Amino acid sequence: MASPTMTVLAQAQMAAMSGVTYTPRYGACCPWCGRRTKISTTLPWDGDVRIRYHYCKNKRCPLAVMRISIKSVEVV
Ligand SMILES: [Zn+2]
Repeated sequence: MASPTMTVLAQAQMAAMSGVTYTPRYGACCPWCGRRTKISTTLPWDGDVRIRYHYCKNKRCPLAVMRISIKSVEVV
């Protein structure tokens, strides 16, 4: 049986994997805590789409604690 904590982590992980929108001006925000994230990997443009991976730096955020990478998508 899943504990509430596990459920929260699963939801946070799902949000990170499904991706957030990246904008050149604001970057990408953590889907869990809403803070700006640090870019870890930037992939080359694939057509009109560019994928990046980020880390959250908020020590109270489960995505940061678990070091789950957050996917972001930039579209032309
Ligand atoms: Zn966060």
